Amino acid sequence: MCSAKTLADWQAEAQQLQIEGRAFINGSYSDAADGQTFTCLSPVDGRELAQVAACDVADADRAVAVARDAFESGIWAHKAPAVRKKILLRFADLIEQHREELALLETLDMGKPIGDALGVDVGGTLRALRWTAEAIDKIYDEVAPTPHDELGLVTREAIGVVAAIVPWNFPMLMATWKFAPALAMGNSLILKPSEKSPLTAIRLAALASEAGIPDGVFNVLPGFGHTVGAALASHMDVDTLVFTGSTGTAKRLMVLAGESNMKRVWSEAGGKSANVVFADAPDLDAAAEAAASAICFNQGEVCTAGSRLLVEESIADEFMAKVREAVAKWRPGHPLDPNTNVGAIVDEAQLQRVMSYIDTAHAEGCQLTVGGQRLDVVSGGTYIEPTVFECVTRDKTIAQEEIFGPVLSVIRFTDEQEALQIANDSIYGLAAAVWTGNFSRAHRFARGLRAGSVWVNQYDGGDMTAPFGGYKQSGNGRDKSLHAFDKYSELKATWFKL
Ligand code: NAD
Repeated sequence: MCSAKTLADWQAEAQQLQIEGRAFINGSYSDAADGQTFTCLSPVDGRELAQVAACDVADADRAVAVARDAFESGIWAHKAPAVRKKILLRFADLIEQHREELALLETLDMGKPIGDALGVDVGGTLRALRWTAEAIDKIYDEVAPTPHDELGLVTREAIGVVAAIVPWNFPMLMATWKFAPALAMGNSLILKPSEKSPLTAIRLAALASEAGIPDGVFNVLPGFGHTVGAALASHMDVDTLVFTGSTGTAKRLMVLAGESNMKRVWSEAGGKSANVVFADAPDLDAAAEAAASAICFNQGEVCTAGSRLLVEESIADEFMAKVREAVAKWRPGHPLDPNTNVGAIVDEAQLQRVMSYIDTAHAEGCQLTVGGQRLDVVSGGTYIEPTVFECVTRDKTIAQEEIFGPVLSVIRFTDEQEALQIANDSIYGLAAAVWTGNFSRAHRFARGLRAGSVWVNQYDGGDMTAPFGGYKQSGNGRDKSLHAFDKYSELKATWFKL
């Protein structure tokens, strides 16, 4: 998905943009009940984008009540799947019509390059919404293998009110992975975007309404996680909570759910993915390019970032020379310049967090070979050079903790067994990659990896047909694919005596 616009064109459009910052409840925009707002700053240049409604418990109560009413009325839940599909496809068409506006909002709000916002974020949103909408009228329920005088039906039903709490790194896309299957199944939804990037979610709500999604079915509550997010997580009338974000927050939400109504909680959480390169990799140049993009794309603010690069000792010197060369092609630039491949870090707090990991790596004796500095790309913005630390051992802080920035830890290994031990030496298990030309090793190693996604001789493959989620403390449940519907439905067994 491309655009012929230049940096100057995008900057001019940014000046004209009308930005909505209010919550969307029951089919219309409204201020937070207590009138509170917070300031939404752009990481591109630090300028104020909007005052955004700081929703709180009263807003959560109101949104849950209208979502419940909409669900019980059957106005959406009782529509035929084919009808819900048609409306969701219209929603996708409207997103496509507004694709440049949405991409611009995403870049201004979150700092990512405009080319990625168009291709990855809007493009991915469209693919996810259309794929999910198309699937919903092709799923059948089951008839149990009963004795002759009985009939057993196993049916999926919408759960009711779903709260979706999402992060800031792919604001629209992560939201779509939740709301598309939730709505397709017939649920009502309350979407809580991150306070760091609420703007596209707020804009999407109006497009959903214009597409024909009934009032009360799609609500958006901006605000801070520990207030409105926690209010949703502990609400007695939310049936399911779906979450993407950090492992620490996921754990807190599970506690809140357990202490309230035992709502189902499905989390997609953090990662520290291993990208393992053996000496017999079929194409070391391709592996080096992929290693660079795995840590630089989206400023390294990717749950599946290949943040631990494991390299076989015998090729490490030669291979790392290629990686350094490949990383040098990723340079922070103005996020609205279509040629930029690295944008701004989402905000000053995240930038400081990344810089503190760089300081820790120095203090722990890791060897800096690329980057490591803050850059002043656009005055007032938050930019960091892609950074590589070599001679890292698995016990170092930067080899264990999720940094969520463009900082690569390179660890050497001598044999397959050691590589697997290092790769699995993490509390996380989201994704991993292995590069080898040995067919048996590829299968053996992929089988040994404790991760929800494994890539062989590539990094970050897959599409809507593949489930996405984590092992261990990277979460539970899966987004994407038909498996995603499991989170948004209850299974009912209905038994007839004939
Ligand atoms: P975060 O946990 O700080 O916030 C995520 C969301 O939770 C935000 O909407 C936030 O407002 C809300 N929140 C924060 N504290 C809360 C609380 N106490 N109660 C209720 N809600 C609360 O995460 P983040 O910084 O926005 O995102 C980065 C994290 O997301 C990284 O760990 C990354 O790996 C993870 N992530 C995972 C996936 C995946 O699919 N596994 C995808 C993208 C991002």
